[in-house]
Amino acid sequence: MNDILPDQTPLWQQLESTLTRVLHSYGYGEIRLPIVEKTELFKRTIGEVTDIVEKEMYTFEDRNGDSLTLRPEGTAGCVRAGIEQGLLHNQTQRLWYRGPMFRHERPQKGRYRQFHQVGVEAFGFAGPDIDAELIMISARFWKALGIGHLSLELNTLGTAEERGRYRLELINYLQAHHQQLDDESRDRLTRNPLRVLDSKNPDIAELIAGAPALLDHLGSDSRGHFEQLCGLLDQADIRYRINPRLVRGLDYYSHTVFEWVTDRLGAQSAVCAGGRYDGLVAQLGGRETPAIGFAMGLERLVALLQEEDETADTGSQADVYLAVTDSDATGLAMGLAERCREQNPDTAILLNCGGGALGKQIKRADRSGARLALILGPDEIEQQNVQVKFLRDSRAQLMISQQDLPTELGKLLASPSPNNRID
Ligand code: ATP
Ligand code: MG
Repeated sequence: MNDILPDQTPLWQQLESTLTRVLHSYGYGEIRLPIVEKTELFKRTIGEVTDIVEKEMYTFEDRNGDSLTLRPEGTAGCVRAGIEQGLLHNQTQRLWYRGPMFRHERPQKGRYRQFHQVGVEAFGFAGPDIDAELIMISARFWKALGIGHLSLELNTLGTAEERGRYRLELINYLQAHHQQLDDESRDRLTRNPLRVLDSKNPDIAELIAGAPALLDHLGSDSRGHFEQLCGLLDQADIRYRINPRLVRGLDYYSHTVFEWVTDRLGAQSAVCAGGRYDGLVAQLGGRETPAIGFAMGLERLVALLQEEDETADTGSQADVYLAVTDSDATGLAMGLAERCREQNPDTAILLNCGGGALGKQIKRADRSGARLALILGPDEIEQQNVQVKFLRDSRAQLMISQQDLPTELGKLLASPSPNNRID
């Protein structure tokens, strides 16, 4: 679980505001959900035989003896809220959420126990158009963030019945090659056979490549859905690779599943993942409601942004530093800073607190990253002026009246121009 320090937060804020803007432009509304839910909710949705439920959840009893869990993902809570709040009755919903998720995994680069996701969910749409829309939203994210080199992997899992029939055939195939399987795959074979396809062990890659493909076991409706989606992506110029081994770790998916992957983050290659989960709402007691969603790991996106631009502006603490040498003038300085902020709401103005000699205050100003130091010394106070010192430009310092300062501040911060240059 990480602390995100002030030199990192500007990048996070930039990421979050870009995602928010893009989601708004597609008409999605933000839903804010609790971090804690009943343990039962995750068992019923994610599935008992999944890595998450078997070994990754932070589960505890509260004072009433109820079993609660820190959410390991957002879809379950979103569906729960949708049913409870009546959002899914005879209506469609386009929603998104953000926030921390918790999984007790082995921490490593790109894999943490508290991490952050932005997730997007659409309810009440059965057709491939919304599948395409969600994928287009994710593609727009990468464009808006300036992240290239992500590739889209796509697959379809068909309906539960189709998957059931395929499952039997897969079990037959894998059992016939039981000797060649590794321990993990043998375990998965008995408990959740489709997950064997997900194995990362190169020793059994060939065996898996030879396994029967789910795509060949789908009926015409499922195929049609998938083909239409592919057609829409083609029209939108979104490139994808159909990966028949993409099965996803969670139980609730049907039809479309997809993942955006990168080769820039080592083993933690998945940046964004999602799929259709048509059965989930009814399974939780709601009416039969088609649904699809995806979630992105923000830590991995921040890492990509950093790698994209190592000099990424991590922001400076302040634009303007107000130095005041006489402690009796603190009230005056604070009033002046307030008037400046009122007229320049986007400007960060740092007031020197804790006194100190002028030289020391200017050093603090420099360290803050400010472009300007404003100095209130005894003479300035006497003459109701303030001295302006340019910390980043080779411009001579100048004197300005305290009264004019709030309106002139913007100009002083703009690049030097002949109008405000002092010769
Ligand atoms: P992975 O294959 O990396 O374990 P996952 O399939 O468990 O991912 P999802 O549950 O689909 O992941 O979550 C969606 C996204 O959330 C992932 O693509 C990833 O970017 C991010 N994510 C998942 N687990 C973690 C984690 N422990 N730390 C950081 N990010 C994570
Ligand atoms: Mg995982």
